[in-house]
Amino acid sequence: MDIIQLLPDNIANQIAAGEVIQRPASAVKELLENAVDAGATTIKLIVTDAGKNLVQVIDNGKGMSETDARMSFERHATSKIRNIEDLFRVRTMGFRGEALAAIAAVAQVEVKTRRAEDELGTYIEIENSSVVKQEPCACPVGTSFCMKNVFFNVPARRNFLKSNSAELRHIMDEFIRVAMAFPAIFFSLTSNGQEVFHLESGSLKQRVLQILGSQYNAKLVAVKEETDYLDIHGFIGKPETARKTRGEQYFFVNNRFIRSAYLNHAVMGAFDGIVAKDSYPMYVLFIDLDPMQLDINVHPTKQEIKFEDEKIVYAFVQAAVKHALAQFSIAPSLDFSLNAEIQQLDAVSNPVSGDKKEDITSSSLYKTFSQKNQAHFIEPTEKSELRHWRDFFTPAETGNGNRETGNGNRESAMENKGWGGATDESSEKPFRPLTHSITASPELESGNWKQETSIQEPATSIWQPDTACIQLHNTYIIAPNNNGFLLVHQQLAHERILYERFSTAMHGKHIASQQSLFPSTIELATADTVLLQELLPDLLNIGYRIDPFGKNTFVIQGSPADVAPGNEKHAIELLIEQFKHFSSDVKFSRREKLVRCMARQQAIKAGQALGQREMAGLVHDLFKCSTANITPTGSPTYIEFKEDYLDRMFGR
Ligand code: ADP
Ligand code: MG
Repeated sequence: MDIIQLLPDNIANQIAAGEVIQRPASAVKELLENAVDAGATTIKLIVTDAGKNLVQVIDNGKGMSETDARMSFERHATSKIRNIEDLFRVRTMGFRGEALAAIAAVAQVEVKTRRAEDELGTYIEIENSSVVKQEPCACPVGTSFCMKNVFFNVPARRNFLKSNSAELRHIMDEFIRVAMAFPAIFFSLTSNGQEVFHLESGSLKQRVLQILGSQYNAKLVAVKEETDYLDIHGFIGKPETARKTRGEQYFFVNNRFIRSAYLNHAVMGAFDGIVAKDSYPMYVLFIDLDPMQLDINVHPTKQEIKFEDEKIVYAFVQAAVKHALAQFSIAPSLDFSLNAEIQQLDAVSNPVSGDKKEDITSSSLYKTFSQKNQAHFIEPTEKSELRHWRDFFTPAETGNGNRETGNGNRESAMENKGWGGATDESSEKPFRPLTHSITASPELESGNWKQETSIQEPATSIWQPDTACIQLHNTYIIAPNNNGFLLVHQQLAHERILYERFSTAMHGKHIASQQSLFPSTIELATADTVLLQELLPDLLNIGYRIDPFGKNTFVIQGSPADVAPGNEKHAIELLIEQFKHFSSDVKFSRREKLVRCMARQQAIKAGQALGQREMAGLVHDLFKCSTANITPTGSPTYIEFKEDYLDRMFGR
């Protein structure tokens, strides 16, 4: 007896569907990409129950004719390629003609679609790969596609789905990947009736900020290099935005999100020595090249691709990022020598065969990494943020000529402007002998400051408002007073101020919260989620309005009114990290720990340039504190230099 049978279509489709649709998020990706391919300018994603119940994508794209609408659900039905050559030219997101067939095999599907030239649209209902209903309908131009009860007919798969929050996270990931790549398109995501994303069309930069949060405002460095072989554009986060958790790292090749450990390595290499080893800089980078140079076909969900020549892409990406960092004076162009390995790559010395080679080798980017030290000639642009040269400027200890060092010179000149009218010269003079004397003078040897300052004098007798302050090393504030002057440590002083402010807020008047313009979401490990849950009421007291959003996700809706917005997410992540270190310390209550962590974390850091107003404000606030002279952990916040000490130091 013969035993081989052809599988019925619906079973074959279900099996095939497993490749394409693994979870609601896979359908989200496919439907969003179809909408993009259809030329939509507005794309709305609606999900309920994390897509398990409904995934709907509404677009205003070109729509489909009645026949096409029906055809679109057949396997291998696509309008995007016609022959094998097309495969190597494909610029659309989809081309396999599998997605709709797969979705129709594992869910209940309803589609409404209309082309501009048709008066009436088409409505089709499909279940288990068979058409249940088809009729003309009135609908707007474009396509609305509903996938309901995914895997209703494949219970094993349905049971395999994760919790709603996990599935929703997958959906948000896919949504972000598509939305990021098409900033000119409006996207929204509504989950269980709540609009989670509302992304107006705009520039890529705007889109990045909309999605990743306004904390990146003014923290993005543009990357842009064009060559005949490939173009790179996008943004990298300034080193200070690097986070302890990986995540905000996006690569797109021809607008398609890809994962590539190899290219990630190229970017991380460019950040080498600029960010801490265990932190991850944000990047959103788009690589565009001739589809001929790609094999996008290697993976069914197309997140992995093969480049014709991986090594040259690696070298390009790394050079482009280094170039961007150097141009913005984040990395010293002085140290800008390309990895020797890269220079030796065949790809670099011999990039592509044929006609292209000449074009490539004449491009400026190619030169920057093929000619040794070429990148040294990067001109500092107007935009250069010279601030970052701070690290290369060691203040004169002996007053000799080390100020000649290139950009450092400009840097110090710039910052000196903030020194309350003091000139370069005069601002340094009083400083140098003093540091010397502090260690030399017996009265001031370590520990003595406590005696000097532990009995607090009335604020005004120590500090007179209205006197101009001087900032030293972007760390110390010299505040003259009648008796001499105060040397205030800006970070420690601010820590004290915030500590008292937060303590008061815990027990009495709460700090007002300001609504975030772009609420950021924060995703945590389960253990941290429990911790944050516990802290939410206290955080609200100090102005952080954070709402749970799904299982391990929170949305930061508001931050303290008097803290500059933009870093909420980082602040909360840091808080959790610090809080955990603290937790062995039983002598403090949870609130006390929270207040201490937040004060330390949010304090203005040493190294930050302050304007006259900020300095005066800081000193003023310090002396309004009930214990101005020490931080919560007991470090001094300021040292007072009385005139008679000064006189004694000079033997007067
Ligand atoms: P592919 O995208 O690989 O071509 P799909 O199964 O995703 O395959 O879609 C099949 C076809 O249905 C597409 O080629 C396209 O012609 C049509 N189609 C799908 N979604 C839309 C949409 N939102 N608007 C217009 N046409 C669409
Ligand atoms: Mg498709």
